[in-house]
Amino acid sequence: MNYHIMTLFPEMMEKCLGESIIGRALRAGLISVDIVNIRDHADPGRKGRVDDYPFGGGAGMVMQAGPIDRAYQSIRAGLDHDPRVIYLTPQGRVFDQPMARELAAEEDLVFLCGHYEGVDERIIEKIVTDNVSIGDYVLTGGELPALVMIDAISRMVPGVLSNAESGEEESFSDGLLEYPQYTRPADYQGMKVPDILLSGDHAKVAAWRREQSLLRTRERRPDLLK
Ligand code: SAM
Repeated sequence: MNYHIMTLFPEMMEKCLGESIIGRALRAGLISVDIVNIRDHADPGRKGRVDDYPFGGGAGMVMQAGPIDRAYQSIRAGLDHDPRVIYLTPQGRVFDQPMARELAAEEDLVFLCGHYEGVDERIIEKIVTDNVSIGDYVLTGGELPALVMIDAISRMVPGVLSNAESGEEESFSDGLLEYPQYTRPADYQGMKVPDILLSGDHAKVAAWRREQSLLRTRERRPDLLK
């Protein structure tokens, strides 16, 4: 999986992606990240500025099409196919686990992180294949949404999670929320771990977990049971 990220804040992306499980996957070569600074493709004479006033008036600035187009062409020149290009936008389809699984099968994914009032609509029409939102709220930029997506997608790339970290039983893997988890000590300030988890009876533990998953999903996310 090769991620290509078009952003105005490359350092923010570098810092976050170098840590923890994603950092380990990068060092192991299971995923790669190519960060393209859109400012490097600014119009000549604009000294790295890539935004301008919105036609028709209104508050805020809009990212210009040209610098994004050139940033994208610099990525496309290194590939032998047209990749999926994801524009992070509150106006997109809401990201979820099935989408993470589907995108993990791609060889290359390009992310376009917007800022200010967003990007010129014409560049969306020209290069974007998927408009994706991470939820019904508005953030200042597309960097955090891209990081959220890269984290969730990378977990689905074979080898990124070790067996011990396996995501097979996690929330959403079977359409339900995960059962409650406990670790030592068995008695924490008088709060005891359910006896069944200490019984050593694997079938009973599995049945209890399944029941807890269903109860928890019904209580917290009844929409998932539909
Ligand atoms: N004016 C835009 C609108 O109303 O749809 C919002 C622009 S927002 C302030 C700036 C940038 O943040 C967007 O271009 C997008 O890249 C990113 N962004 C904000 N909220 C997001 C969300 N919920 N999901 C994905 N990206 C988001």
